Order: sequence, then C-alpha cells, then structure tokens
Amino acid sequence: MKKHRLAVYASHSAIQILLGAQEEGLPTTLFGPSDALRLYARFPSINSRIIEYKGPECLNVLKNEGHILIPSGSIVEYVGYDAIKKSGIPYFGLSELIKWESEWDLKIRLLESAGIPIPKTFKDPSSINTTVIVKLPGAKGGKGFFITDDPLIIKEKLAELLAMGKINSVDEVCIQEYLIGVTMYAHYFQSPMFDRLEITGFDIRYETNVDGLKRLPSLFAKNISPSFTVCGNIPVYPRERLLETFIQYGERFVEATRKLIPPGIIGPFSLECVINEELEPIVFEFSGRIVAGTNIYLLGSPYLKLYWGVDMSVGRRIAKEIKIAEETNRLEEIVT
Ligand code: AMP
Repeated sequence: MKKHRLAVYASHSAIQILLGAQEEGLPTTLFGPSDALRLYARFPSINSRIIEYKGPECLNVLKNEGHILIPSGSIVEYVGYDAIKKSGIPYFGLSELIKWESEWDLKIRLLESAGIPIPKTFKDPSSINTTVIVKLPGAKGGKGFFITDDPLIIKEKLAELLAMGKINSVDEVCIQEYLIGVTMYAHYFQSPMFDRLEITGFDIRYETNVDGLKRLPSLFAKNISPSFTVCGNIPVYPRERLLETFIQYGERFVEATRKLIPPGIIGPFSLECVINEELEPIVFEFSGRIVAGTNIYLLGSPYLKLYWGVDMSVGRRIAKEIKIAEETNRLEEIVT
C-alpha cells in the first residue's frame, strides 16, 4: 500500500492538521512563504518536513512526490483554485466547490437548494428595506464589510471600490439582510468511508471591533462603525435541542452538493449561522473545507468523541479518512 504524504499550507489550521496526521501516523510536508514557516519550526512536537513555497510550481513538485493537498481557507486565498487545478495535485475534498464559494450567485443557489433558512439578499441597492451587511469578495475574514440601511451609502461605496480596482463588478459584492441574534458556527465532517455526516463542533468568531463595541457604553459607540475582522475563536455548546436542527441542516447541505456538484462534499465544512429569538439558526454563509474555528478542538472535539470514543480533532479526522481510504484502496472517493 502506498502511503501518501499530506501537503499542508503554513497558515490557518496547519498546526491542527499536522498534529492530527502525526497521531494517525501519516507523514506531512508543510509549505508556505519563509516568514510563515518560522512559527511551525518553533514547536518541537511538530515533526513535519518543511519547505518554502515560492510559487505554483511548488505544487507540481509536491504532486510528483506523492502528496495529497489538504485545503484550508488560506490555500484558496493565497495559492488559488487555478494553480491547484493546473498542478493536478490530488485534493482532499470537492475542489469544484471552491468556485461555488467564490461566486455569490452560486453560493446562494447552493444554500437555497439545500432548503435551509437563509437571509434575504438584494441585487439592487435601491430595493433594500432593512439593515444590510455588504460583503466584499474573498475569504478575508470579514475585512471591509460594512453595515447600513441607506441605499445611497451602498451606491457610493460600490463606486469607490470599483474606482479603486478593489472589485471588478458589483456582482462580486453581496448585499445581505443583517440578522439580529447571536452568531454560532456549526462544523461538520462528511465521510465517504462511513457514508455518514459527523458533527464536529461549534464556535463563535471573536471579531474586532464588533465584539469590542459591547465594552463601550452605547453613548460612545454610536459613531463607530462595526468591523468584522476575525482575531480568534471561542467555544460554544448549543442547547441540546438545537443539535438535531444543526444535523438536519448539515444533511440537507450535503444532499444539495450531491445534486448540484456531484459527487458532493467530502470532509470538513461549516455552516455559519445567526440564531434568532425564535431559536432558529439562519445560515448566512458556508465554507466547504476545514475552518479555523475548529482550532478550539486542537486536542480533541467532544462531539467527535461521540463517534470515535477517543480524542479526535478535525485535523486527525481528515488523516483518519485518508488512512482508511488508502488501506481499502478507495482513495478516489475522497480526492478530486
Ligand atoms: P462572513 O465573512 O460572511 O463569515 O461574515 C463575517 C462576519 O460578519 C460574521 O462572522 C458575522 O459576525 C457577520 N455577519 C455576516 N453576515 C451576517 C448577517 N447576514 N447578519 C449578521 N451578521 C453577519
């Protein structure tokens, strides 16, 4: 049996993936720009080969050496879909989903076809009739998003972004109803090896400055616009009655990906929700790969323990799926 190496980009959730692979006995190569690699070399417990990423040709080298690429938000942002596809490196998960994630129309189509509650979106700024959050393209952790209820402000900002070349067309921006409630991010793992969906945990993103505004008396906060730059993650345990709802949302999402993007999602994904006063989670966004919110379970997720009976992080869960696929000659079911 051929043992593949896992190629892990040096950012985002790399520590979790490297440690998880080690726990399952799979070798890893960490790659990234030299200034990002320094961090990982500091920890004696990380026993990974480390190489510098100087450009997309690095992916060809990794491919020829027999690596499987483990995607993360940083890979999508800094390496990019085209370079990954061009190299032909085996990709753990459904690579096609990257395209669906990067275009708002496709993203909304997928969520709509899952039949789960989602916020209203507005194509034309003049049609807004509620407070909205305006989202810029790219997985940049909420950077540059703004909230308004004024169509003129949106039109002005869009014109500014176009003039500055920050967007090429207004279709790259999503104008979405701003949901009132509390945020909660649900994490899942869809396993082709066991043909089941595992719930892997929940987190809350700690976002600056919106979370900091709570610390200011409203008198001083009123002239400060909220921003949504993620700076960390906080664990949360939803009420037990919500677990079944979250699992059903996850199952419907998996079904929608099977229908629209066969063979459907593989491995980790996340549904980002606001839970409203009626205790209904509304899904405003998804990620089709491991998200950094699962780093809170670096040493093991209490939810994954319910399936596996041992301490299991999402990083380790990825390695386990790959290991089982290798041992049973079913690798083609988990890489695309
Ligand atoms: P996103 O990049 O879509 O995950 O959004 C970044 C952050 O903006 C989220 O973590 C939330 O705090 C906030 N957010 C995004 N969409 C909404 C929404 N529709 N209603 C309320 N808050 C939102």
